Amino acid sequence: MHYFKSSSTTIYNNNYNYKSNSNQNLVSARYPVRISNYYASLIQQHGDAIWRQCMPDVRELEDEHQCPDPLHENSLSPVPGLIHRYPDRAVLLVSRRCPVYCRFCMRKRLVGSGDAPMDRHELQRALEYIAAHPAIHDVILSGGDPLMLDDAALHTVLSGLRAIPHVTIIRIGSRVPVTLPERVTPQLCNLLQQFHPLYINTHFNHPAEITDESGQACALLANAGIQLGNQTVLLRDVNDSIETMRALMTGLLRIRVRPYYLHQMDLVQGTAHFRTSVRSGLEIMRALRGHVSGLAVPHYVIDLPGGKGKVAILPDQMERDGDLLYLRTYTGERVTYRDITTLPE
Ligand SMILES: *Cc1c(COP(=O)(O)O)cnc(C)c1O
Ligand code: SF4
Repeated sequence: MHYFKSSSTTIYNNNYNYKSNSNQNLVSARYPVRISNYYASLIQQHGDAIWRQCMPDVRELEDEHQCPDPLHENSLSPVPGLIHRYPDRAVLLVSRRCPVYCRFCMRKRLVGSGDAPMDRHELQRALEYIAAHPAIHDVILSGGDPLMLDDAALHTVLSGLRAIPHVTIIRIGSRVPVTLPERVTPQLCNLLQQFHPLYINTHFNHPAEITDESGQACALLANAGIQLGNQTVLLRDVNDSIETMRALMTGLLRIRVRPYYLHQMDLVQGTAHFRTSVRSGLEIMRALRGHVSGLAVPHYVIDLPGGKGKVAILPDQMERDGDLLYLRTYTGERVTYRDITTLPE
């Protein structure tokens, strides 16, 4: 299986004049740097939200306390390239390459390393595992970015999965619409739509990523009947403000993408400088619910260390006293609600 050949993806770009210093070279020796020309063109100035997501930072090397794989993905991997944590879902890591290596990536231990995509032999073993586990109904292609594979390789993976009767839905997790929108061609959409029901979760983190180009990529996918969801990571000094998050979530609906998850940062080594508190995440959730379209409100989730799974958390908005509930409205008013299942005599 081969990667898509992109002429416009370079390690560093021409548009934004990035001169690496020796500290940044140390960082890139450990955690590869890759920035597509398109994504680099979104940088307006040093230190802005796009810059912070893709430029190496020495603080990546100063984070000694966290673990490279806190979610125990390696130990939940029964065969290479497959993560099986929940009984009915499995994640297939088909690629180790992305158009941009996000500095906060939860698979920092993997992306860019070795670089080769999953080979046919590994794919075969993973498909055999899925075929032997009828409980698996939902397979998520991830990596790395699955859409970095070329169309022939994607066809091989998708037709292999569709040949397994108990695989009901296929999901693709991809940042390509955000970081390499020109990869979303009519040919790619024609290919993908042969494998419905197929869902794509993409990964916008900032309203500046919603552009004509990314909007066009999402329109092509949506017109191919693909439901688009979005997973955002809550990142310090990138999107940890109410105003930014409201603009992002409502902006996504404009390009036909439905917010799905807002992720609390995983405790992954090399990413500590992006961490925000859960308290500030809950403040953002409080500022969304009821204030913007309900379609724009994602679930705020913590993926628990040890592979215990994702837990959705909500701001405190309910106290109970017997069958009386005290609920907090979006304007802050406390309202009493009686929890009864039969009418009083
Ligand atoms: C997030 C995740 C899934 C999918 O979870 P959903 O809540 O269904 O989106 C499946 N497997 C693993 C290992 C995951 O991390
Ligand atoms: S696109 Fe996704 S997998 Fe790739 S580096 Fe960014 S967060 Fe990680």
